[in-house]
Amino acid sequence: MRFFTVRFMIVIGVATALRSALADVDLPLIDIKSVDPTIVIELRYSGRNNLIGHALYSPGTPALVRPEVAQRLAAAQLFLRRYQCGLKIWDAYRPRSVQMQLWQAAHNNDYVADPRAGAGSMHSWGVAVDATLTDAWNNPVSMPTDFDDLTPAAMWRYRGADPAIRAHLRLLQRAMASAGFYGLRTEWWHFTIADWQKYLPPGEAKLAAQAFGTRWQGKL
Ligand SMILES: [Zn+2]
Repeated sequence: MRFFTVRFMIVIGVATALRSALADVDLPLIDIKSVDPTIVIELRYSGRNNLIGHALYSPGTPALVRPEVAQRLAAAQLFLRRYQCGLKIWDAYRPRSVQMQLWQAAHNNDYVADPRAGAGSMHSWGVAVDATLTDAWNNPVSMPTDFDDLTPAAMWRYRGADPAIRAHLRLLQRAMASAGFYGLRTEWWHFTIADWQKYLPPGEAKLAAQAFGTRWQGKL
């Protein structure tokens, strides 16, 4: 009982912080760390190491997702532990206001979703994450590209010659698929829960389905 009380308070705390800082949506979101503290969090939009070169999140912003997504990330982490690897999260819930800044900065809507079009980014619904692989000591491992490398090298299907990169990407994809995520054709790090339509209002889900066409056609 105590466990549930503490956990409930954490959720309330996160929700309160979220409402004050990011009040553009009302979603049930929780901190990924509260479900699996072993998942490494490195929100790239909290610092300058991202495609626009400055922070979009305030320091200490937690990695938030819908509770169902957090549970699935924990399942993916369990899968990866069998291979002495783990997950690192580069982005999770992304407020629409941040998505707007990203879209304006990127000027490349082949990759970045316009927050005003259709349902916007799946990140803004708490049903998508950007994730990469670490080794057992939480160190990065070789992957096809860095985060937000909006080039053909970031395609889901790795076409390079490095067998280690191929193996790492394949392991990440297997872990995420086994936990109920699917990927994006143009960005190997982007994963959406397979039944995302359940978590959007019906009108938005229909718009998003029309915009995406297939599950490979979404944007970051
Ligand atoms: Zn993404």
